[in-house]
Amino acid sequence: MDLSPMTYALVVHGGAGADPAIDYREQEAHLRALISDGQDRLLSGESALETVVALVKAMEASGLYVAGKGSSPNADGVVELDASVMEGSSRKAGAVAAAPHLLHPVEAARQVMEDGRQVMLAGAGASAFARAKGLEFVNDPDAYYVDHVKHGSKNAASAHGTVGAVARDGNGNLASATSTGGTFFKTAGRVGDTPIIGAGTWADDTVAVSCTGLGEFFIRAGAAQDVSARMRYGGASLREATAATLAEVKRLGGDGGLIAVDRMGNIAMPYNSKGMKRATVSDRTSPVVRIFEPE
Ligand code: ASP
Repeated sequence: MDLSPMTYALVVHGGAGADPAIDYREQEAHLRALISDGQDRLLSGESALETVVALVKAMEASGLYVAGKGSSPNADGVVELDASVMEGSSRKAGAVAAAPHLLHPVEAARQVMEDGRQVMLAGAGASAFARAKGLEFVNDPDAYYVDHVKHGSKNAASAHGTVGAVARDGNGNLASATSTGGTFFKTAGRVGDTPIIGAGTWADDTVAVSCTGLGEFFIRAGAAQDVSARMRYGGASLREATAATLAEVKRLGGDGGLIAVDRMGNIAMPYNSKGMKRATVSDRTSPVVRIFEPE
């Protein structure tokens, strides 16, 4: 297999909740533009880490997914955000949890990672850290956030709109980033799988993974790191490992999906919900955008 610097692979997702009754053309067009941008970044030598953070920020800013601008308030009317990022070669990771009104939660997660003293900051502590780093906050939540509930997305299936990106860059580095507003009407303080390293996000030098779905089940399955463990200890292929991990999520009673890229640039994007908004491109494959079609 050719592992020259031109070897790159990228997958993004916009959540494993998709309702066949909803028109997703806007999201599809956005995903297509995103992977084209990501492809340019990787081809110009940008790292996997920079690329996944940039793409997740663009998804947070779009208002098209349940993350960043598209997040919905919790049961107390507050938007609490979860995000994480991990780099494979260094195993550095950062996360923020139940953090209100950050403009770019994934950037805060990246800053936690770069700062290096902690891996995860939550709530008021995450806000104070972000403020100290000069990160932006949403000043007028009522004006900024798109309320999906008002736009007919109240049912649970369409509520999974977490965003994520995984990439392998030309130097062979892997990275993963995930960001979410969480589940609709969640209890104040509820933290899902997204900011938990090893549950919603993982990257090592074998595989990078970003999950979406009912977070409680992905936490209980240890999902994102489970993909790596199946490959590293069990000798599973990427496809076998991702399918087995999702089967375990289902066995526990959950549903959802995940995206993954391995060090050879193979990709997987399985799901067991009704659909998953996702897109991929690599040096070996043309851009693909899918929602309801099988993997
Ligand atoms: N996994 C997210 C959470 O439980 C939700 C989602 O993927 O839409 O917070």
